[in-house]
Amino acid sequence: MLELPAYTEHLKEGILAEHQKNNNESIENPGPLQTYEENLSRGEFRIQQCKDCGQHVFYPRLLCHHCGSNLLKWVAVSGRGTVYSTAVVRQRPEKGGDYNISLIDLEEGPRLMSRVVDVDPDEVTIGMAVSAHVGMIDDKPAVLFYNKEQGDKEW
Ligand SMILES: [Zn+2]
Repeated sequence: MLELPAYTEHLKEGILAEHQKNNNESIENPGPLQTYEENLSRGEFRIQQCKDCGQHVFYPRLLCHHCGSNLLKWVAVSGRGTVYSTAVVRQRPEKGGDYNISLIDLEEGPRLMSRVVDVDPDEVTIGMAVSAHVGMIDDKPAVLFYNKEQGDKEW
């Protein structure tokens, strides 16, 4: 345990109280990241949309990064996207081999980091049309992309 000077004791209590309060709140009212992950574990890819400015918001957060509003709701997305940039991560075959990491621009606006999984990692190109599916990365539900016919909503 960290030893603090006596005169800082009230600060420590304040921090602990704040910490407990936040934890209790997160049980009653799950944080945005938790809600996002719960949706994924049900096979649903949802992002936030601002009720004030109408913009879509990703990564999950409490405040709209376009206008600062805290009125964010969860909405389903089309899943359609375009590869903004792409890279290949080289890995030994026994560790799973090479894989692709791409930044994907969703039709709704937000850009997210993911993997295009149904194409050879080297053959993912900038501007390629992709669609989102909920799959698994490292045993956790995650959004993956397939280079498929657009409008194909299989997730
Ligand atoms: Zn907004």
